[in-house]
Amino acid sequence: MSEHFTTLAGVVVDTRHWIGGERVASAETFTDISPIDGSPLGEIARGGAVEAEAAVAAARAAFPEWAATPRAERARILHAIADGVEKRLEDLARVETLDNGALLRSHRRGVMPRVAHNFRFFADWLLKLEHEDFETRGHTNHVSWDPAGPCVLITPWNAPLMLATWKVAPALAAGNTVILKPAEWSPLTASLLADIAAEAGLLAGVLNVVQGYGAEVGSALVSHPDVRRISFTGSVPTAKRIAAAAAANLTPLSLELGGKSPLLVFADADLDLAVDLAVEQYDNAGQVCLAATRILVESSIVEEFTERFTAKAARLVQGDSRDEATDLGPNIHPRQLEKIDGFVRRALDAGARAVIGGEPNAELGGLFYRPTLLADVAQDSEVVQEEVFGPVLTLQTFDTEQEAVRLANDTRFGLAATLVTGDRERAERVTAQLVAGTVWVNCFFVRDLRAPFGGSRHSGVGREGGNWSFDFYCDVKNTVTAPKGWQQEVTRHG
Ligand code: NAD
Repeated sequence: MSEHFTTLAGVVVDTRHWIGGERVASAETFTDISPIDGSPLGEIARGGAVEAEAAVAAARAAFPEWAATPRAERARILHAIADGVEKRLEDLARVETLDNGALLRSHRRGVMPRVAHNFRFFADWLLKLEHEDFETRGHTNHVSWDPAGPCVLITPWNAPLMLATWKVAPALAAGNTVILKPAEWSPLTASLLADIAAEAGLLAGVLNVVQGYGAEVGSALVSHPDVRRISFTGSVPTAKRIAAAAAANLTPLSLELGGKSPLLVFADADLDLAVDLAVEQYDNAGQVCLAATRILVESSIVEEFTERFTAKAARLVQGDSRDEATDLGPNIHPRQLEKIDGFVRRALDAGARAVIGGEPNAELGGLFYRPTLLADVAQDSEVVQEEVFGPVLTLQTFDTEQEAVRLANDTRFGLAATLVTGDRERAERVTAQLVAGTVWVNCFFVRDLRAPFGGSRHSGVGREGGNWSFDFYCDVKNTVTAPKGWQQEVTRHG
């Protein structure tokens, strides 16, 4: 096998870029490491300004033909990509697990089927996309969604292919060409997606994948004046850099960022449900943007809640993400583990109490951090205000509904909120006051691609999903046509 490929769990992955329908190497590479055991997974092409330029040029060149491809044909190709994802589901699941350390069973049963669904959903939605024509003094207004041009899509490592295709699918459906830059800590499934798209018959240059570091190839891409849209999922500091780069070219952008979402448990809640939902927040070793990491419990039930939570969390199995029995895998990278532990150490130094966990898992070693619940934390403390992005939850109490809402809204984020209550009217009252892109009542992580998705405040800018995605990825046009034989009036109306 040449230096341009790596074979993992029997799957051959090309480690080069995919630009203009060809594999392209870079002079330099970086080593991709598995969070499961620290083993090297491959030497990945390290792109820079040259590769960014080539990818944007390829996307520009391919744009007219793809944009002019009839909707039905675009939809057919997206379904063919979904077929390819389904055919290679096991390969994708195994490679993703090695690369980002999330559970193999989740990749098989939840994540990769959702990747295929991303393509099918936006293919079907494209065929239904229309706005009713309307009339203005006899003139017809017709709204159309025109392809915008080359789109740069930049994605994080916590759900690499799911988050990438949540952007790639609508961008392609809309008739755009794409340059995908996956995260450098989990670059592999994006390369497999390029293979799948090519096999599905996608024209060369319509989907390009460039590998490398954010500060190098990522920054060159988002600064490029020929890019017509930037969609980014990642952290707030990176979003600010990207927004500044986009501002220089007035490139429209969509930002899906971090969170510090609350889980509100009222005394009238089904306590078993509340505990299940709270423990679920350790999913993906806490590396989920939507995770409700701040558990806010009504004082009168906090003792019982904590007891049941502790008992349930104690049953979580931490270990190799490939084992069916594992509930919690490793965190992504030594730097991330250090960051998580730093947050916990500082919180403990400031007087927090670890109800459970509070340290790396010394028995397992490597990148495993014990599921942690910190109590006695102040609302203005770092661990309550900042996103940890690890298996670390905080526990606070409230006495009234108003206090619950105040605490829930009192961070700079606004991605999601979950409340558990047996009182429907309370649910409506509280929901109306919460600042969040998504609110779940007595449930968590129920997602529908027809629904708007995004964050308020520092959790994001814009919404994607259903029509919102097409509004973002298209140049929406209104065409006003005069009736036959009509004479333009001298005075125009606003
Ligand atoms: P990150 O911001 O460090 O990196 C994200 C991506 O941006 C990577 O591909 C990186 O290479 C690239 N990048 C870095 N600097 C860049 C630059 N100057 N120009 C262009 N690209 C650049 O984020 P991360 O650590 O990979 O991901 C974790 C974050 O993502 C968390 O904050 C999490 O909450 C957030 N997230 C949000 C959502 C959501 O939908 N709201 C979903 C998942 C993750």
